[in-house]
Amino acid sequence: MTKEVKVRFIELAVGAALCIGLFAAEQYDYWGLAVTEEVRQVLILLTYGVLAADACWQVLKKLRRRKLFEENMLMLLATGGALAIGRHGEATAAMLFFHIGKLIESISLHHTKQSIARFMDIRPVYANRKRGMGEENVKPEELRPGQIIVIRPGEKIPVDAVVTRGFSNIDEKALTGEFEPRSVSMGSRIYSGSINQDSLLEARVTRVYEESAAAKILNMVEEALKNKGESENAAERFTRFYSPAVTLLGILVMVLPPVLFLGQDLEKWVYRGLIFLVAACPCGLLVSVPIAFLAGIGAASRQGILIKGGNYLETLSQTETFIFDKTGTLTEGSFGVKEICPRGIRAAQLLETAAYAEAYSSHPIAQSLRDAFEKGIDTSRIGYVQEHPGLGMEAIIDGTRVFAGNSKLMKLLGMDHYEVRGSGTAVHVTAGRKYVGYVLISDQIRKDAEDTVRWLLQHHMEVMMLTGDHELAANEVAKSLGIEYVYANLMPQDKVAQMEEIMSEQLEAEKLAFVGDGINDAPVLARADIGIAMGGLGSDAALAAADIILMEDEPSRIINAIRISRGTVRVVKENLHFAVFIKMILLVLAFLGGISMQNAIIADMAVLLINLLNSFWVLKYPYENV
Ligand code: ADP
Ligand code: MG
Repeated sequence: MTKEVKVRFIELAVGAALCIGLFAAEQYDYWGLAVTEEVRQVLILLTYGVLAADACWQVLKKLRRRKLFEENMLMLLATGGALAIGRHGEATAAMLFFHIGKLIESISLHHTKQSIARFMDIRPVYANRKRGMGEENVKPEELRPGQIIVIRPGEKIPVDAVVTRGFSNIDEKALTGEFEPRSVSMGSRIYSGSINQDSLLEARVTRVYEESAAAKILNMVEEALKNKGESENAAERFTRFYSPAVTLLGILVMVLPPVLFLGQDLEKWVYRGLIFLVAACPCGLLVSVPIAFLAGIGAASRQGILIKGGNYLETLSQTETFIFDKTGTLTEGSFGVKEICPRGIRAAQLLETAAYAEAYSSHPIAQSLRDAFEKGIDTSRIGYVQEHPGLGMEAIIDGTRVFAGNSKLMKLLGMDHYEVRGSGTAVHVTAGRKYVGYVLISDQIRKDAEDTVRWLLQHHMEVMMLTGDHELAANEVAKSLGIEYVYANLMPQDKVAQMEEIMSEQLEAEKLAFVGDGINDAPVLARADIGIAMGGLGSDAALAAADIILMEDEPSRIINAIRISRGTVRVVKENLHFAVFIKMILLVLAFLGGISMQNAIIADMAVLLINLLNSFWVLKYPYENV
């Protein structure tokens, strides 16, 4: 329980105890054991005082931030007025129910956050570090890169590491939402927060705890819970003008009828005006919005989709244009070598040079060339290394300057090179100012990408593709996926410019999402209305720049994310409409004198409960209706 919930609970318990005391006193009265009227009134006032203390405190707190009119203030005004006209019992009862409503509100908010956090129970508690022949038990924070850790079956992996000994299956459900365990062996990367299932593993630490997967995900979830949705802010803005307006209306209800019409009883109208104020209290209305967004974020995280805030759910639900990066997003990003075409050197030598040049790049092309080379890379042969994003690599190998990259890079170097006609991506290589040939590699379209693009097109969304690859490769992929708009040959900064152009042609309300793997596209991820990054466990840049992170390399999770976002927004709207509708009825009833003060607040509480149920119900089954 949070402190807030505890304080509320204690206050309520004391208040309720006093109420029961009062009730008992009345019973004694009935039996002739008189409690004097004075004692009774004092008891009632005491109860009211206990129950109103928190509201007073809240009002004082808000006063400092110059927010005078809000629900607590309304309640104090109304019940204070009721006290003044001698309706002590009613004022106290209204305060009691207001309190119960507030308690439900805090508990449900707290509960939702807890249930997200519990699912995210990925925080590792300890690690076994190897030391000489033995092991020592340390905190994950104490581990440093290069140290060797031991992970027994059933234990959580403390930090990101690379397996150095053993075979096992790793359960990554909590990180990625993927139920199938992943088998790992020597050389496999393992991520903190996942669980070793079968057998003992030894691994070398690659990242300190703060930079490991678990800590990063936990940070993001925390941020997401703090981040408010636009509707939430709208709801706040709404009360800022709503509360003063209804206060004024309440006062008009009190004074106008007696002034305008003869023979109207002032006290009767003051009483109605006070009930009007209670009925106008926006409590149930306000909390239904954040609860729905939290439930949405929770439903998504259970599927390995991290959403950094309620506002992104809202934007995603309105998104109609999806722009995809090609390499590594729509395609597997693991290229197979199709052709090696050397000039003046042996083919094996060309592949070796290319692999060495790519030794330090995290680009999918680089990984594929290293895989194709098969032999280990002796890093001591490599001097200076520089990556030129969207172009290729530059490195000094055995003292010779080497470039490996696309034809754009060759043109920039003024290097005469082969014209490649076949389908695939050519990596041209130069060594010591001499062109030594190219390696032609080709990629495979993800099966999952086909399904995703088809779904998006079927649901009348616009699908486009941006890529740094040349047109031939780009068009081939686009054609087989049915994507109409393709922009090729783009450097990372060109991608931003191109996307801004597309955005400028759209209306303000039309939202645009960019989906990328985070390699060479962090700027676009950041610039889009919604940046969706895939493979959250890999790239840091993507984690930082994106608004939504798909923990697995599966574009089809976008479909789930869209469904959840629409479900959430629909629940928010339903909740708001329902609350406003009931509010209207209550206000009319109050004006006509058809409802008592405590019933007005009980009705508000009922609205709150129904909205809560609605949020949880729909978001538990987010797919049924969208
Ligand atoms: P995409 O937009 O399709 O993901 P990138 O922007 O990552 O592509 O890269 C664009 C092009 O730049 C690649 O098709 C490739 O020709 C070249 N390139 C980028 N990085 C490298 C690298 N490390 N090695 C070789 N070529 C590269
Ligand atoms: Mg890419």
